[in-house]
Amino acid sequence: MQHLQMVDLKRQYQNIKAEVDTAIQHVIESAAFIGGPDVQSFSTELAQYLGVKHVIPCANGTDALQIALMALGLKPGDEVITPSYTYIATVEVVALLRLTPVFVDVDPDTYTMNMDSVKKAITSKTKAIIPVHLYGQSVNMEPLLAIAKEHNIAVVEDNAQAIGSTYTFSNGSTAKTGAMGVIGCTSFFPSKNLGGYGDGGAMFTNDDELAAKLKMIANHGQQVRYYHEMVGCNSRLDTIQAAILRIKLRKLDEYCYARRKAADYYDKAFKNHPKITTPYRAPYSYHVFHQYTLQIDGFDRDVLQQKLAERNIPSMIYYPVPCHKQNMLKEFGSANYVLPVTDMLQDKVISLPMHTELTEEELEYITKNLLEIIG
Ligand SMILES: *Cc1c(COP(=O)(O)O)cnc(C)c1O
Repeated sequence: MQHLQMVDLKRQYQNIKAEVDTAIQHVIESAAFIGGPDVQSFSTELAQYLGVKHVIPCANGTDALQIALMALGLKPGDEVITPSYTYIATVEVVALLRLTPVFVDVDPDTYTMNMDSVKKAITSKTKAIIPVHLYGQSVNMEPLLAIAKEHNIAVVEDNAQAIGSTYTFSNGSTAKTGAMGVIGCTSFFPSKNLGGYGDGGAMFTNDDELAAKLKMIANHGQQVRYYHEMVGCNSRLDTIQAAILRIKLRKLDEYCYARRKAADYYDKAFKNHPKITTPYRAPYSYHVFHQYTLQIDGFDRDVLQQKLAERNIPSMIYYPVPCHKQNMLKEFGSANYVLPVTDMLQDKVISLPMHTELTEEELEYITKNLLEIIG
């Protein structure tokens, strides 16, 4: 088996090629490269899908987070609670805006924010919390929203890895991830669950005033052309990306389902193995498996990765260094943080190929070989 990849976007494209090619051609012929009709249509369709009032597209997921924090009008020194166990972008934007990131630990089973850790991290300076729906699983939002409400703290969801996921509240009602905080953010980076063929991102909100502000910040702080009300940035979703994303949005549920089927296969093969912990599926979350991430005990992870590679099986460590140990964030007192679960996971996790086109033959090859190696 020669062609295994972490994410196989070539094969996915082959299955939607005719539709995508036509859509791209249409944009090129219309020459509406920036702000074309597909951008508005995609925003409307995504808002419908998520059950939110406003979707504001932008250039990438990092910008989405930055613009969201700018729109909240936070001041330098305000504290923002985030997990350390996340992609750097979540925290980088906090530091970039001269806000203070405050790191919390995660739960060892879900890899997402631990609620006790969040409660302990709250001070009078806490102005925002960024829950990260890591690997495609929703954070336990009900208790988080309650804590935030009690202390009047804004919740900005980082939904870059979980678009399509659903959270179920204790009364049985459901909401899409990204639609529960005051602002939700996502990325359309090609390998994300809803990925374009280049960069892209979006913000979601039900608040009319915030929506206007997000839109304004993403567009040089202007509502009326050449009249700039506030310092903003230039962050746009290309029309070509929007046209592609419209097609892929229609397939998103099917894509999430395909990922879950692949995860089912992995789960079954690795079940009850003493050296392997399969990903936990929290009862409140519809897991959309952006990543399929195992914990390995009693076997050297580097050796495992190397032996998998020898058999043409790619694997990845998301993430080898947690944010609180990154040099970039040194000034925020990394040395003072005690995040035992984050540190423990960092040494154990390994992610296997996960995408929408995995065949049973490939899954069999991956699982059989991994089990053979690990013994
Ligand atoms: C990918 C990702 C981002 C950033 O998205 P970009 O489009 O690459 O800027 C932010 N947060 C998380 C958790 C991500 O996985």
